[in-house]
Amino acid sequence: MKSDELLALFLRRGVLWPTAEIYGGAQGLYDYGPLGTALKRNLEEAWTAWFVGLSHDYYRIDATDLLPEAVVRASGHLENFTDPEIVCAQCHNVFRADTVLEKVRPEGVDGLTAAQIGEIVHAEHVRCPNCGSTALEVPPPFNLMFGVDFGVTGKERAYLRPETAQSSYLAFARMWEVGRHALPLGIAVVGKAYRNEIAPRQVLFRMRAFTQAELQIFFDPEHFALPFDRVREEKLPMLRVARRESGAEEPEWIAASELVASGGLPEFYVYHLAHLYRFFHDVLGYPAERIRFFEKSDTERAFYNRIQFDAEVKLESLGGYKELGAVHYRGDYDLGRHSEGSGKKLSVTLTDGRTVRPHVLELTFGVDRNLWALADIHLGRDGDRTVWKLPPYLAPLTAGVFPLIEKAHAAYALRLADELALVGLRVQYDDAGAIGRRYARMDEAGTPFDVTIDGVTVADGPERDTVTVRERDSKAQTRVPASDVAARLLASVRFPRPART
Ligand SMILES: [Zn+2]
Repeated sequence: MKSDELLALFLRRGVLWPTAEIYGGAQGLYDYGPLGTALKRNLEEAWTAWFVGLSHDYYRIDATDLLPEAVVRASGHLENFTDPEIVCAQCHNVFRADTVLEKVRPEGVDGLTAAQIGEIVHAEHVRCPNCGSTALEVPPPFNLMFGVDFGVTGKERAYLRPETAQSSYLAFARMWEVGRHALPLGIAVVGKAYRNEIAPRQVLFRMRAFTQAELQIFFDPEHFALPFDRVREEKLPMLRVARRESGAEEPEWIAASELVASGGLPEFYVYHLAHLYRFFHDVLGYPAERIRFFEKSDTERAFYNRIQFDAEVKLESLGGYKELGAVHYRGDYDLGRHSEGSGKKLSVTLTDGRTVRPHVLELTFGVDRNLWALADIHLGRDGDRTVWKLPPYLAPLTAGVFPLIEKAHAAYALRLADELALVGLRVQYDDAGAIGRRYARMDEAGTPFDVTIDGVTVADGPERDTVTVRERDSKAQTRVPASDVAARLLASVRFPRPART
């Protein structure tokens, strides 16, 4: 599906809509409706079940969106969290420098000063994408954080967090105190982050308020024991720097063992990369041939990242590979900066007597982007119907519950819908229109099952009554005892989990 078609369907079904839509919307802000909210919540829970489920020592916390200025000063965001922009003196439009220079400098503009970007603009005779003028200027960089007054005096500043990761770094000292004084220690946050993007675009891909799911794993750099055998044989779709430089776009499948033995990557890194692959492929259902791990080179990655692969998925609606997550080996950069900023040590003493400042492995995941990807990949045409083939545990609704004939079967259907809701299932009662129309509405919303109450149900009597269960993807219908429906549906909505360490 094209991006416009997908967005039109989202709007029509109330999956999401622009914030302040009645005022014409606000650039880069979207609100989720009932279907979108349920899907997003399920996606967050699936992520948590999988990644926090990797270890008994990984935990999820909930932290505020506001950070005091001292935090973003120490983290470097106050100084460096900028996007170079280019302003047209003719038409006064403002553009991201990397977008304007996409053709002449495909590797991007990270690390360049405004003056250096100005030189490229001049030397390459770059023109305004809007009016074609060459009167382009490169102003001093613009900080992407939203600052707010904090307290009533107007003297204190706070910032909407630009990434959830900072909340985990701030929590480390307390989590160490309340925990079992051992590494690794994983601290996950799922929540909103905010960036004052110069050019919000591609709906859920560059927003000014968005949801991240991030796991920061604090570990002993000399010893990170994990069951590598579980992933040793697994092949991963790698696009390494050398391969990229040869012009390749498609990844090469390399075994985890080989990435460690001859690929120069540590076991702990490959282990978590393999679990990210499994999450994309096994849990979210992204096809293997659409996934690649894109290695960032020395000059492309942030200076504090020692290893960085972006997890990219090919999306038809957006015309190519898009970053949906990443794995960053950040060394001790973060705790080092916050140790300096706060005056606290932030190093820990281990049982063998060594005192170490933990290193950080960061797993990031864009919740909104992946919600879009779930539509791009699983929503499509099947003959004359539109079907969203979401895995049942992600589907906003698990089942539609329909009376075949409203007058005769509504009471029974409403009672069954209540019973299913009471055991925690997400069900929707619907008696409007022909049964085929009701199926179609559920297929489009991604609902994996439809339960229909008909004459046979009621005639059989309460002891041994049966209902039909229709399966979305195959359209197969089976009669099952009404008393079995809850157990069947519950089995389908359990989130997959990895084996724990
Ligand atoms: Zn212009």
